[in-house]
Amino acid sequence: MPDTILVVEDEPALRDTLIYNLKKDGFTVEAVGDGRSALESARRLNPDLIVLDIMLPELDGFEVARILRKEMSTPILMLTARDDEIDRVVGLEVGADDYLTKPFSMRELMARVKAQLRRTRLLREELEKAPQPAKKQETFSFNDLVINITRREVTLHNTPLQLKPKEYELLEFFAAHKGQMLSREFILERVWGWDFIGDSRTVDVHVRWLRQKVEDDPGSPTRIITVRGGGYRFDG
Ligand code: CA
Repeated sequence: MPDTILVVEDEPALRDTLIYNLKKDGFTVEAVGDGRSALESARRLNPDLIVLDIMLPELDGFEVARILRKEMSTPILMLTARDDEIDRVVGLEVGADDYLTKPFSMRELMARVKAQLRRTRLLREELEKAPQPAKKQETFSFNDLVINITRREVTLHNTPLQLKPKEYELLEFFAAHKGQMLSREFILERVWGWDFIGDSRTVDVHVRWLRQKVEDDPGSPTRIITVRGGGYRFDG
């Protein structure tokens, strides 16, 4: 069965181009032009991927993504018009899987769409195939920072921290590689996936937010250290 893609774009010309190109590549496409219809269509269709513009009538793309994230794990590829939206797109607030800055080529868009779908498929196959590995270590403890791997919970000074999924994954990855210099590219590949086509700002943005939660003084971090010209090192 072909993958179903929901396109949310209010500019008719761009919407038509997106529909045309996605259909040409064999996808089933439904397209809407405002945020409320996007929610309605996403809930009804349960699409394999959502291409979501940010500036939309009714509800904007940020709001749509924020709501859908709580309801489904469908990958979201966001279309941004301005650089200053990127932090919000990849960050805490929205957690989009990928983004494209307008103007973009259809070739680039198709590559991103396929990469996301491939990634979702691989994850699903792995989940179905693999027996759950026995957890070697249930918790990591670093002074007052305790990471419970099984429950995916983190406490600092005995207080639970509210971490977004990607922040948690990044922290767990750091914890498993304590004391090692980790390049941004390596982190991007291992935490976001080998075919995530983001840039190193994605890592920096998440490190910044993680520091605000796990560092006593985020301004002079002692746990997640920036290695000049290298990347990051988790000192525990
Ligand atoms: Ca728009």
